[in-house]
Amino acid sequence: MFIIIRNDDLCALSDPAKERRVLEVFEKREIPQVISVVPNMSEDPHNCRLNKFHPLNENPQIVALLKEYHTKGLLEIAQHGFTHQTNDRHPSQQMDISKVEGIDREWTGYNPASPEGYSEFNGLREKQQWEKIVEGKRLLTEILGAPVRTFVFPWDRINETSLEILGEEGFEHVLCSRHSAVSEKLNLMDYCLRDQEMFQLPGLISDIQRLKTTAVLQVTYHSWMLGDGDINRLEKMFEGLAGLKEVTFIVPQQLAGFVPQAAKLFRLRTKVFNLAEEVNPILGTKIELPGYYPVDLMYYRWIILKARVKKILLKHLGLRRVIQGLKHTG
Ligand SMILES: [Zn+2]
Repeated sequence: MFIIIRNDDLCALSDPAKERRVLEVFEKREIPQVISVVPNMSEDPHNCRLNKFHPLNENPQIVALLKEYHTKGLLEIAQHGFTHQTNDRHPSQQMDISKVEGIDREWTGYNPASPEGYSEFNGLREKQQWEKIVEGKRLLTEILGAPVRTFVFPWDRINETSLEILGEEGFEHVLCSRHSAVSEKLNLMDYCLRDQEMFQLPGLISDIQRLKTTAVLQVTYHSWMLGDGDINRLEKMFEGLAGLKEVTFIVPQQLAGFVPQAAKLFRLRTKVFNLAEEVNPILGTKIELPGYYPVDLMYYRWIILKARVKKILLKHLGLRRVIQGLKHTG
């Protein structure tokens, strides 16, 4: 199976010593990862009014660290929004709420006013979105000298206009959580484990092994949120996984080489979920998929076929009920 590990929120405010320590844990086992870097980090992503930003090159140690591990072949750079700051259409409900520990300083507590949560891109005009994407990519490419073809939306809040822009600007992958968006040019891949759930990875690997199937999966975490205990736990977990021949850690850029069907798998999974949204509420049954991607196109096609048959039956049944109803009243 192929595992992509994604680490979010590296930026000018990151702590170089801590980030190095985490990177060394991966290096020890030669495990590559994709790191989502914020090009121009906000001092408080939850405060839409604060105008204090830090471009990545303000922190030469972080820049040097990312370059070093990129040269070692141990990371792919992804772009993580532009400032990671929520916009004024997605403000916080209260500003005087107690603060939370953020990156290098305290942030306004998580209390978005909109049920949608915080968002850097939703609600902005197309031109504003385009500027953020293009300027962010330019900054990262110039500062790190590495290609940037993967994008991660802050809070995984996908915007469909941004997806079109990303496709036109040469991006290939968007790593995210469950979504209903379909993009012609981009591969949108969901994660299955997040943060503390990451430690469930050995159990999930055994489950997949038992099913004797090949799978692709994404695990996402935030290195800045890891405590000393977590870092030691991570080290132990990788030590335990080291002997497994069936497990290959890859980065998004390597996906097409290792799993040529990946792009199709991602689209089929979205198709299943969109169909499920139509059928599940009416039937009360559940069309579900695992958090990982079984590498088996027939598996998805079979589920889609079943869902479509259910949809047709529902339509038919619905029609018959209407006719019966008419006869009855007539
Ligand atoms: Zn983030």
